[in-house]
Amino acid sequence: MNSNVQQILDTPIEFLKGVGPMRAEVLKKELSIFRFEDLLNNFPFRYYDKKEIRSISEVHSAMPNVLLRGRIVAVDMQGVGRAQRLTAVLQDDTGKIELVWFQGIKWVKEKVLKGFEYVVFGKPTIFSGRFNIAHPEIETVAQFEANLAEGIMPVYNSSEALKRKGLDSRGISKLTEILLKTVVQKIPENLPDNLIKKYRLLSHEQAFRNIHFPQNETLLHEAQKRLKFEELLFMQLQILRSKIYRAKKLKGIVFQTVGDNFNNFYNHYLPFELTNAQKRVVKEIRRDTCTGAQMNRLLQGDVGSGKTLVALLSMLIAIDNGYQTCMMAPTEILAQQHFNTISKFLGEMSLQVRLLTGSTKTAERKKIFSDLENGNIHILIGTHALIENAVQFKNLGLAVIDEQHRFGVQQRAQLWTKNHDIVPHVLVMTATPIPRTLAMTVYGDLDVSIIDELPPGRKPVKTVHYYDSKRLLVFAFMRDQIRQGRQIYVVYPLIEESETLDLKDLMDGYNSISRDFPLPDYQIGIVHGKMKPEIKDYEMQRFKEGKTHILVATTVIEVGVDVPNASVMVIESAERFGLSQLHQLRGRVGRGADQSFCILMSSFKLSQDARLRLETMVQTTDGFKIAEADLKLRGPGDIVGTRQSGIMDLKIASIVQDEAMVKTARIEAMEILSTDPNLSLPENATLQLQLRKMDSVSGNWGMIS
Ligand code: ADP
Ligand code: MG
Repeated sequence: MNSNVQQILDTPIEFLKGVGPMRAEVLKKELSIFRFEDLLNNFPFRYYDKKEIRSISEVHSAMPNVLLRGRIVAVDMQGVGRAQRLTAVLQDDTGKIELVWFQGIKWVKEKVLKGFEYVVFGKPTIFSGRFNIAHPEIETVAQFEANLAEGIMPVYNSSEALKRKGLDSRGISKLTEILLKTVVQKIPENLPDNLIKKYRLLSHEQAFRNIHFPQNETLLHEAQKRLKFEELLFMQLQILRSKIYRAKKLKGIVFQTVGDNFNNFYNHYLPFELTNAQKRVVKEIRRDTCTGAQMNRLLQGDVGSGKTLVALLSMLIAIDNGYQTCMMAPTEILAQQHFNTISKFLGEMSLQVRLLTGSTKTAERKKIFSDLENGNIHILIGTHALIENAVQFKNLGLAVIDEQHRFGVQQRAQLWTKNHDIVPHVLVMTATPIPRTLAMTVYGDLDVSIIDELPPGRKPVKTVHYYDSKRLLVFAFMRDQIRQGRQIYVVYPLIEESETLDLKDLMDGYNSISRDFPLPDYQIGIVHGKMKPEIKDYEMQRFKEGKTHILVATTVIEVGVDVPNASVMVIESAERFGLSQLHQLRGRVGRGADQSFCILMSSFKLSQDARLRLETMVQTTDGFKIAEADLKLRGPGDIVGTRQSGIMDLKIASIVQDEAMVKTARIEAMEILSTDPNLSLPENATLQLQLRKMDSVSGNWGMIS
């Protein structure tokens, strides 16, 4: 790009005709518009269509804005001094509405004339029982029509402060028009020719022109397509470049062989045949860990798909090559369970497996630390305690992180620094499938493996939704299941803000269940996060051993707990849980061969979103579908890790609505970087330039992880 051109685009906004220092200040403050280019990138957030002109009789106060067309039948000055205001009455075939101005009266008086036809745009409010519109945007019908070729009018974000400076949506549109005239034919292309041809994209300049002043519906659509594609492509280039960069910078450990531990376990201790999906994923991990590059892999598999075993097999490969391994879980219960499972799996094999959590006693802790540094421990399992500074491995080769959504990117990075000169491979496991578009963006620097198959013999959990009024029916069903030898979870919400209230709900629930399921026929247990760990473990253990019939609990049992004989999950106040949480909870049942059930209890009054969540749960058990629905309902902002990822800064593309384009952009970005990783070919010069610009603005978030 010609540096002259960039100079023009970098011109401070006050130098645009019609702006000046006062307006520049509000533009900076309210819309972060500092330079010409920022104004160019300030896209309308929606468009009005001539078709959207309403009748005055249709006006109601719930309308955010309304477009009206009519004749001014009265203009009147009222009040004196500071209370002075100008009112005008607009009339169409259906009625009249008052327009009012408190400021800029002189200007309005010259412009708004009795007897002429106008188009008015603004927010209707009720004032002394009648509708009026304060400070509407107003123009003559002739102006209005001249301004829109096919009737599409941009609407820009504005604010009170901007409006006071005459920068309502129309005012901003005027400035943008001036700017476009100033930079006409000077907006550089930032995409390579071949992409523009391949996807039949508008040029950069045409796109800007039509996003601000669409000549017609088709061109507006084309402009959006071009700008979204561009935005997503650059995002993918950033993500993939940082991935390449890391692959180059970080030396991975090479696992040369698959040795005795793996083979011995596989041939003698593995209690069942691996599913094909498990086999495939183990191969993927094997392939990754022998290349010399550091593995950074996300393993997604629905609850119960057998991720633990995949982790264990991977750890055995590391151990076969003389390295230590660790596995981090989000809760103490889960860490304990992994410890038990893995110890049991390994049976008589002479491997040292240890557990380190917050409640590990000091003496034991000391012993673990020294054994770690001596290299006497092969597998260390634990909670966050694993990333404390005191934990130093002799040679950590593989770190497994279970239930990834609980950990931030930060913690992943911390684990890597455990060794000073070598970077262990990292396997991150999650049972909350991440929608593909998110996996490509937020977690775009990870490779993804998917276990898309459950071990044989599992029946999908049957899910129903009942209102609280059906409680007796549900109790009868529970009794019947217990009679058949099954066990039941009853889960209550426990949400930080109202913990005491929730705890009361839980205790009330426990008492009521204890009444309906009395001793000695029924044994009821209870667990929640506020209990002493020993008591919690005791209760969990009793349930696991089948000594309790019903376990009343909070979401502490959400992740990982594995009791195959439990076949019913009752979720109280299900409307208060998020979708992924409901899915996790449901995953606690359906682990054995029997038909399992999930009963969602809710009050009768449900918000639209809550109803959709419960309906989704009833309709599908597919974790991917649920994750997609969750993303659509909540938007990407609520999902862990998205805030720092930059996807919230997308100006025009949406990773929810433009899913297909995210994929296309990723494929193209991969293609470009695979042939030209440094973007040094002449045809990619524009890309290189744009990325540099972006890096200097954003501080390159892509490198954070
Ligand atoms: P998750 O993916 O939810 O962590 P787990 O690893 O806890 O799942 O596995 C769920 C259950 O399935 C465990 O009891 C485990 O022993 C069992 N399992 C794992 N793989 C297989 C398999 N290939 N065949 C049969 N059962 C399996
Ligand atoms: Mg698990």
